[in-house]
Amino acid sequence: MHPREQTIFALSSGRPTSAIAVVRVSGPEAGTALRDIAGAVPVARMATRVLLRDRAGEAIDDAIILWFPSPASATGEDVAEFHIHGGRAVLNALFAALSSIDNTRTAEPGEFTRRSFENGKIDLTEAEGLDDLVHADTDRQRRQALRQLQGLLGDRARGWRKELIDASALIEAGIDFVDEGDVPEDLLKPALEKIAQLRREIEQTLATSVQSERLRDGLTVAIAGPPNAGKSTLLNRLARREAAIVSPHAGTTRDIIEVYLDLDGYPVTLIDTAGIRETDDPVEQEGVRRARDRAASADLVLWLSADHSAEPDGSIVNGDVSLWLIRNKIDLSNPENGGANLGQVETKMEQRAPTRQFRISAARGDGVDELVAALTAFAGIWLGRGETGAITRLRHRSILRDAAASLVKAEALAGRGDELVAEEVRIAVHFIGRLLGRVDIDDILDSLFLEFCVGK
Ligand code: GDP
Repeated sequence: MHPREQTIFALSSGRPTSAIAVVRVSGPEAGTALRDIAGAVPVARMATRVLLRDRAGEAIDDAIILWFPSPASATGEDVAEFHIHGGRAVLNALFAALSSIDNTRTAEPGEFTRRSFENGKIDLTEAEGLDDLVHADTDRQRRQALRQLQGLLGDRARGWRKELIDASALIEAGIDFVDEGDVPEDLLKPALEKIAQLRREIEQTLATSVQSERLRDGLTVAIAGPPNAGKSTLLNRLARREAAIVSPHAGTTRDIIEVYLDLDGYPVTLIDTAGIRETDDPVEQEGVRRARDRAASADLVLWLSADHSAEPDGSIVNGDVSLWLIRNKIDLSNPENGGANLGQVETKMEQRAPTRQFRISAARGDGVDELVAALTAFAGIWLGRGETGAITRLRHRSILRDAAASLVKAEALAGRGDELVAEEVRIAVHFIGRLLGRVDIDDILDSLFLEFCVGK
């Protein structure tokens, strides 16, 4: 049997141990699973409490089951859900019972979502939104992902596609109608007007900045500066703040420490480049190289220094990145200029010159609120302040650019061959089909669904 026709199952809730675990089953044998393990198929969409049993009749768990017959289910197939107690042994026993049913197997990552896409329950932009929603760390990411899942871009694209098909049908009808020569003006004109209007709408969507694409990944801020400037102290202080919920990212190495902050819904990864220094140790050199690379690709470098005359190391701060100068340890300096001049001082914008300056005490906390407020505002500029745009991936942007380009060509060809106009419109329809995942998209599908977790 083809793997796509097999019945799949997976743990859809978090890893054990947990209070409750949800195991989903999708495919033709989902009903068999309920009959074999729960004794019967319950009423559709009604939570039912049952004792689950294995083949030998031994009790597995006291559970809740749900039954979603095809097509009114998440995947479009028959779906069964087992809400069991979330212990490892319970889970293993249920998995063993499910595996013993013919033509069932554990699901691949993203396979439930893939089936729901393939059965027309969601389009590709909505599947991407679902992926983003599952991975959303901050509130702004969550809201953007949810809008995409609810069809923000998908609905718009479906509308464009339909209207373009109508426009090309109008032109083609004209071509058939006149037999030879050009389509009469009264048939062609409304079609061309429609095409121009849709081209403008697509261009307007494209004109929304790249902020929504960037919100998915967030900002990277590197804390750099000479040894003992107080980089780790500042990082720890920022990480401990209530407003900044911290989860140390995977990938923390000996020389680069990353901390993930949620600044008013903006995801910001802070990198402590404490390892950036001259060294003869080859292992350390590798760490230093990596730290330099990370700092070089950061959106913002905070150059921390305790020596008030020190200048930033230009080799760390490349031309494009923003640079802020942070004078640390102001608690040690003369109280006259220590306490009074906190906060930022705007300086001239120069290549590699700091655009802002702050005076802080990482140890005592002075000036840190101002720094965090400035970081949050900076994130707002890069990641969008309000409702974000419909384009959340480079994939969307490049496909829509191609579609708009075809429509520009279609308009330019008007009067020079109506067949050619119709052909360019068909090409635009094809691109929008790609956006929605209707045409030649196997490569996209494979890479997208691999990003998903198992059970999704
Ligand atoms: P790093 O090498 O840049 O990461 O620097 P650390 O964060 O390890 O700090 C070096 C030393 O400076 C430590 O002893 C800190 O306690 C101290 N330090 C850091 N920030 C301040 C500050 O604002 N005031 C004072 N007085 N000491 C600080």
